[in-house]
Amino acid sequence: MEHTVKIKSIEHVTHDVLRIVTEKPPSLSFKPGQAADISINKVNWQTEKRPFTFTSLPNYTYLEFTIKTYPSRKGVTNELLKLKKHDELIVADVFGDIAYKGKGVFIAGGAGVTPFISIFRDLHAKNEIGDNKLLFANKTKADIILEQEFKNTLGKNFINILSDEKVEGYLHGFITEDLLRAHVTTGAPGQGMGRNVYVCGPPPMMEAIEKQLANLKVDPKLIIKEAF
Ligand SMILES: Cc1cc2nc3c(=O)[nH]c(=O)nc-3n(C[C@H](O)[C@H](O)[C@H](O)COP(=O)(O)OP(=O)(O)OC[C@H]3O[C@@H](n4cnc5c(N)ncnc54)[C@H](O)[C@@H]3O)c2cc1C
Repeated sequence: MEHTVKIKSIEHVTHDVLRIVTEKPPSLSFKPGQAADISINKVNWQTEKRPFTFTSLPNYTYLEFTIKTYPSRKGVTNELLKLKKHDELIVADVFGDIAYKGKGVFIAGGAGVTPFISIFRDLHAKNEIGDNKLLFANKTKADIILEQEFKNTLGKNFINILSDEKVEGYLHGFITEDLLRAHVTTGAPGQGMGRNVYVCGPPPMMEAIEKQLANLKVDPKLIIKEAF
């Protein structure tokens, strides 16, 4: 079923990420971590559907999307940059493989953090953040989405790694097996780990992390993932 929703507000949260808030159709239901196929209700764009995650919670009175834009691709995210309050989006099928299955380590690359935004907001609302940890990989500090919110919610369990910039207090480089061993494994070396690992990011990052997790002997059943 498709729902046409009006944009209530649209603003930048980083230099290339938009926060779009829309009306919420009463009959639309989803779980924290899920996404929907979205298109723009404008001539020539209605059928150009792209998946975006709900970063609002199901009980909010509005829908929120947190969307990284790629102007050079001249696709949907570039077109979103031209939208204003009262323009419309079409929200179609709801889907998504990422849902909270218990405590663990969340590993995100760039906009891959969006399913974790709603999962952490949900846990925070229920007072169940516990010792969940977020390892967030970005190019530069300016690319970190909702840095302050994650700091407030997760404290020392929010770990940033920047590939293209050296900043004091932030790890530098790519996510490596050593880094995963240090931050993710709970058992002795070689024993793997017994908690969930949630991974979401661009396909090359996902491939690298999955290989590293296999080397660390992480039980594939504990890996919850989605490629963006
Ligand atoms: C389940 C799911 C949920 C998602 N949720 C979110 C979310 O909440 N927020 C978010 O920001 N993103 C999310 N994404 C990613 C998002 O769907 C894509 O970023 C989006 O579809 C890009 O749309 P686009 O039309 O701008 O570009 P595309 O459709 O990716 O590209 C348009 C054209 O640009 C060219 N192109 C494609 N890739 C590249 C490239 N790497 N370099 C150069 N040119 C290229 C191709 O010619 C392509 O046809 C999600 C993805 C999935 C699978």
